[in-house]
Amino acid sequence: MKMYSLSCKNMGVTCDYVATAGSREEVMEMATEHVKKVHPEKGKEMAEKMSKEEMEQSMMEKMVESDDPDEGEDM
Ligand SMILES: [Zn+2]
Repeated sequence: MKMYSLSCKNMGVTCDYVATAGSREEVMEMATEHVKKVHPEKGKEMAEKMSKEEMEQSMMEKMVESDDPDEGEDM
């Protein structure tokens, strides 16, 4: 199973938060919620600079894909 993560640092925010989920959509939702709650100014700044589509595109690009460490072990 693939895991996706997006950290605040990747988005240019000094913060240790990392959104991790099994789908890109979920990660995007988590990151968006977090930015709204914790970095409303950053969210506003981004919304002023780009459209929702561009923001999603930018998040997709910054997202890191990795394999779930729990899997891959043969018993
Ligand atoms: Zn943050």
